[in-house]
This record gives sequence, structure tokens and C-alpha cells, in this order.
Amino acid sequence: MTAYKSDIEIAQEAVLKPVMQLGKEMGIDPDILEPYGHFKAKVPLEAVKPEEERGKIILVTSLNPTPAGEGKSTVTVGLGQALNAIGRKAVVALREPSLGPTMGLKGGACGGGKSQVVPMEDINLHFTGDLHAITSAHNTLAALVDNHIHRGNELDLDIRKGTWKRVLDINDRSLRNIVAGLGGRLHGVPHETGFDITVASEIMAVLCLADGVADLKDRLRRMIIGYNSSGKPVTCGDLKAEGALALLLREAVKPNLVQTLENTPAFVHGGPFANIAHGCNSLAATKMAASYGEFAVTESGFGADLGAEKFFHIKAEAGGFSPSAVVLVATVRALKMHGGRAKDDLKTEDLEALEKGLENLEKHLETIHAFGVPVVVAVNAFVHDTKAETDRVLSFCRDKGVPAETAEVWEHGGAGGTALAKAAAKAADAFDGYHTPLYDKKIPVKDKIRRIVQEVYGAEGVDFSKEARNMLETIRQEGLEELPVCMAKTQYSLSDDPSKLGRPRGFRITVRELRISRGAGFIVALTGSVMTMPGLPEKPAAMEMDVLDDGRAAGLF
Ligand code: ADP
Repeated sequence: MTAYKSDIEIAQEAVLKPVMQLGKEMGIDPDILEPYGHFKAKVPLEAVKPEEERGKIILVTSLNPTPAGEGKSTVTVGLGQALNAIGRKAVVALREPSLGPTMGLKGGACGGGKSQVVPMEDINLHFTGDLHAITSAHNTLAALVDNHIHRGNELDLDIRKGTWKRVLDINDRSLRNIVAGLGGRLHGVPHETGFDITVASEIMAVLCLADGVADLKDRLRRMIIGYNSSGKPVTCGDLKAEGALALLLREAVKPNLVQTLENTPAFVHGGPFANIAHGCNSLAATKMAASYGEFAVTESGFGADLGAEKFFHIKAEAGGFSPSAVVLVATVRALKMHGGRAKDDLKTEDLEALEKGLENLEKHLETIHAFGVPVVVAVNAFVHDTKAETDRVLSFCRDKGVPAETAEVWEHGGAGGTALAKAAAKAADAFDGYHTPLYDKKIPVKDKIRRIVQEVYGAEGVDFSKEARNMLETIRQEGLEELPVCMAKTQYSLSDDPSKLGRPRGFRITVRELRISRGAGFIVALTGSVMTMPGLPEKPAAMEMDVLDDGRAAGLF
């Protein structure tokens, strides 16, 4: 069997273009490019072109994944490379990684094999400091809130209802719940609080959805930092903190320019959680990619039931754009899992399980069709897949009139994705319209949730806990009914129960809590248990990492 190099070995063999040359070849004025070392640069927001001069957007999403991930980032990068290989200018836009998953379990967020963004060791670690800036902005606000309470609490913040927590960009379960302000009256007011991971900060979502600095400040001002004793929201603006926060973010708002292994330009910028936030790279990075490419190839987190739905209803609405095509990544292994095969036994041929699992893919195809945007299926090829299995997935899609191609971009880079690139370009070229949202923003929040669970998940209906029903009332009173909904649900199932695989039927969704992310501009509906400060696994990926005597990184996947 062929021996494959690790991601970092492949990445370190890449011949990178100096970022000034990369930018110049894209048509970005070198005078405005702000290099961070030789191979990374920040690009100011003024480099975004007006809509009529921008290329089309191709959104990459997937079916409900296995815990290992089905290769959305890999296919996004590979498709960008493949489009360039067939002579269509493409620019990639991806989320930037968090140290949580990097040091924990999942691996980086730079793609894999011969479809990666580089320099991957920089991107996966501190990159250009955006996550540091967000952490600092978030914790500055926490310190200002606690100081305000210590100094008399003029805003009447009710600490028993919880206030603005702190964040850290690493998985650290022991900080989930803490008591702060211990040590006597000189050391603050004792209260229960905790840490979330930085990517779960509302400021991350704000940064990703802000359309310029003025909008950034508006969104920061609107963020809710707690509730007063009459239950009314108190905002960051009440504390007059938005200026300092925006100042801390002034470099972080600029998209980061890097490249793929094949020198395709890539903007890697912003990385909000895909459960309590919308899970896409920044609006600015997507617009920037579309400004310099005939196609911007971008992805959304989790499966299409969460990622694509939120891309359409939250990101595209905020940005005033529409994807022109959706590439839905499917894998033989995930389909077999949805058909009942055990998660740790997906490497042998099983056409029966595959056949059964196809209904999961079918549901996601129906969802994309409902949004009215053309869809192309990419079968992300793994070396264990058999020809019979791959052919069955392709014929299933094609029989439904959905173009489908195998993507061998992990193994072969852009050359392994030319058929997919042609199909995606053809679909996007032919679509000049706008997606159809599945709900009118004017309908009440509870009806928006009902539409999503019925149309996208295939549920029979939705039930709200008492707490959630109370919050629906607060939302109404605060005049926030027109905000879109951000569903927080397991990514493994169409339902809110991760063990219900395939295409579950006859189920209901329970919304146990609603949170107002007023700065981000959405209402978060929490179902099941959602962790905003993950823990490290038994064998953290960090244990394999090292730096060599010559300064090179080792063991980063
Ligand atoms: P996602 O974006 O869907 O979470 P990634 O693209 O990050 O998925 O891929 C998850 C992991 O799987 C990465 O480590 C990547 O290198 C690996 N991977 C992706 N596609 C393939 C493939 N076709 N063959 C082998 N490994 C792959």
C-alpha cells in the first residue's frame, strides 16, 4: 500500500510565493498590503470591491459527519486549486483555526494532504494574532463589567443572573465554572462565572459579521453583558466600552492573505463556533475572495443542516449576497455510518449500509434545493473506498439530476478535482439569481425555529422549555423578533439526538434555552447539550508536537 506523508511533511515541502508577489498577481495594490513575515499579509477592508465587480460564491458544505470530519476544508482548498487548474481564477476563504481543537483531537483547520493552506504551522498556531485580539477585547469587557460592579454597580447588574464571562483559546474544562472576586472587599464582588473558548465569544461572531468598522462598533455596542434586577438587558454600550474593544480589534478585522500548496490565494479569517454562532469565516474575507477571484470558494461548519442553513439565513443575509452554487461533500464512510455500520469499522466495503445511509445525503440535497441554489455533490475519496461504493453514490445523485463527481484532492491536489471544478463552475455560471430564504425575517422567532426544524431537519415540530418560553417573551418585548435564528444542535444527526443517524423520522426538537446575541445579530436556540468550553481528550494531539533544533514544527498532524 502507498505510504502517505503527513500533512506537515507535505506542507513543509511546498514552494510558497512571497506574499507581496501573490498579492500583486491577484491585482491587490502592493502599497496597501501589510505583510506579516514573508508568507502572510493583512489586507485592509478598503480592498473589497463593489458587489458588481465581484465574482461568484461557491459554498462547500457536507452531510452529517463522522467524528473525524468529512473533509469540507480539504475539498474547499482542493476545489480552489482545481478551478485554477482548469483556468478559472478562484480564491479560497476559510475559517482560522482555534488552538482548542489543534491541541486536542480534531487536527488543524487547514485542509489536508495535497489540499492545504500554508504556512500551516503558523495558521494553526498564533497566525496573525486575531484570536489574541478577540481574547483581549472579550476579557477587557469582563474586567470592565466586574470593575463596574465593584465600584457601586450603577447599572444595577444582577450578578445572580450571570454576567459577561471570560474566554481563553484552549480547551480547559477546569475553567468552565469558577468563582471570581474572592479574597475580601478589596478584590471585587464574589460571583460565579466561568470561561468559554475564544471562538465561542460573541465578539468572534461580531467580527465575522461586521461590515466595516462603523458596523463593528454598532454591533459591539449592542452586545448584552447581563441583566438588571428588573430583567432588562444591559449592554456594552451602557458601559461605553465599544470604543476600546473596537480599538483592540482594529488589526484583527482585516482579512489574512495566505496561499494553498499550489499557490492559489486564500483568505483565512475569523472562526466562530458552529453551534452557538454561525460557523463561517468573516464576511470581509468572503467578499475579499470574491473581489479577486472569478469564484470565491468558501465553507461553513458542521453539516448542511447547521452550516449551510446558517450561511444562507445569517451570513448571506448580513452580507447581502448569495452563493451561486453549493458543493455538498459526501464520503462513503459517513454514508456507511448513517446506514448502521459502527464508527470504528468503516474501512471495508458494505454496499448495504451505504445504500441505507444515502437517505442522509438525500435529505441535505432536498434542503439545498429548497434554498433554490444549484448543488453539486463531491464524493471526497478515501483510499479505502471501493469503486462499487463510489459508483453507487455517484449514480444515486445523478439519477436525481444532481451532478456528482469524485474529489481526489486530498491525494492529488487540484489535479484530483478537475471534474468537480468543471461541474461546480458550470453550476455557478448558470445561476444568476439569489437564494430563497426558508423564512421571512418578519415572522416571530418561534415560527422561524419551527420552519428550520421542519424544513431542514425533517422534524414533526418543536417544543420549548419554560425558560425558553420566558425568553421568547423577552425577545418580543425588546423588539428583537426580526433577528435570524442561530440553531445550536449536534452536528452528528439531523435530530437533536446524536445517536439518531441516517434520516430520522417522527421526532421533535426541544429548545431548552434561548440566548440573545444582539451584537452578532441573532437569537441562539440551544438544543441538547452544547459545550462552549470543550475539554481535552485522553490523548491530546499536543502530546505529539515538538519544535526541532532548526526551528521547524513537528507533529502538527
Ligand atoms: P472538515 O472541514 O469537514 O472538518 P477536514 O477537511 O478538516 O474536514 O478534514 C478532516 C481530516 O480528514 C483532516 O485531518 C484531513 O486531512 C483528513 N482528510 C480529509 N479528506 C481526506 C481524504 N480524502 N483522505 C484522507 N484523509 C482526509
